[in-house]
Amino acid sequence: MAITVVPSRCPQNHRCPALRYCPTGALTQDGHGAPVVDAGKCIDCGACTAACAMGALRDAT
Ligand code: SF4
Repeated sequence: MAITVVPSRCPQNHRCPALRYCPTGALTQDGHGAPVVDAGKCIDCGACTAACAMGALRDAT
């Protein structure tokens, strides 16, 4: 799993739009905080990186 969350790029003031694009439920969010990736569920599809306009979700590969 190579998706990383960059909390400093996330305004952390809204529901993360990337959550609904994740096909496996690997992304979760506590309140309006930065999302968290469950490495055990992530299939590295890249859908979340495209969904985040702030670039807070990055594929490190
Ligand atoms: S890369 Fe795909 S499976 Fe992994 S967290 Fe992002 S949307 Fe979900």
